[in-house]
Amino acid sequence: MIAQLLGLPDTPLVMFLVFAGGGMLYFFIIASVAYYVYFKKFRAHFHPDYELDPKEMKSALKWVIIGIVGNGALMLPIHLLIAKNYSQMYYDVSDHGWAWIFGQVVLLLIFTETLIYWTHYAFHRVPWLWKYVHERHHKYVVPTPYSALSFNPMDSFLQAVPHHIAAFFFPLHAVVYVASVTFVTLWAVCIHDRVSFFRWPWLNYTDHHTLHHWYSDFNLGQYFTFWDRIVGTYRSPTIDYEDVPDGLIYRPKSMAPTSTAPTALGGRSANPA
Ligand SMILES: [Zn+2]
Ligand SMILES: [Zn+2]
Repeated sequence: MIAQLLGLPDTPLVMFLVFAGGGMLYFFIIASVAYYVYFKKFRAHFHPDYELDPKEMKSALKWVIIGIVGNGALMLPIHLLIAKNYSQMYYDVSDHGWAWIFGQVVLLLIFTETLIYWTHYAFHRVPWLWKYVHERHHKYVVPTPYSALSFNPMDSFLQAVPHHIAAFFFPLHAVVYVASVTFVTLWAVCIHDRVSFFRWPWLNYTDHHTLHHWYSDFNLGQYFTFWDRIVGTYRSPTIDYEDVPDGLIYRPKSMAPTSTAPTALGGRSANPA
């Protein structure tokens, strides 16, 4: 389908190359920009405690490549079905009108948020899912932009699959679909760079996901916090402020930590190979 939008043939090989090659190119560009800005060029401002751990970086990059390539293969059958018109994917806005473009965006947000929350919840509650699927992503206790897609491929596939199967449940415009997968990848990088600019309590902004990696069982949502609040897995980076180690998250001067905050990441360094 993406191949079709690009004017390429919808063959399995072309699709796989677009998913794996295009996905890798896109991810490495945005992750590298975030890494360069926050962890190198302006490191003294954003993450003064950060030290590059080459072993950790090598591990993260290796699992990004394995994750993206594996994910490209796993999503292929879904996209072959879409290409053969088994879904409700459509290409002409006039088929359903502009109102449905906005309606499907809202529905897509609710659909993906709900499925991704409960998938992620299962990863943290079912021991074998944790051990064999999700634990890899949590090796990065203190994340960097490259941790964003550092996954066991089955993990990234299961967390992304609601975006790919949505068109089997309701009419979805191809551009809305492409925008959603492009944006969610950008979002993944943003929530792993440990720099928040918008601290809206309803938004699962970066500090929430930083706490997710630090404490593991809190803040399981995709874009929003409502499922976490309903289920009781919510932890606020501002209310639970004193528990958050100094240096873990970037705070502007107006939010400088109190002296009660543990210092220097509490000696809990991240990220084995
Ligand atoms: Zn998790
Ligand atoms: Zn993460």
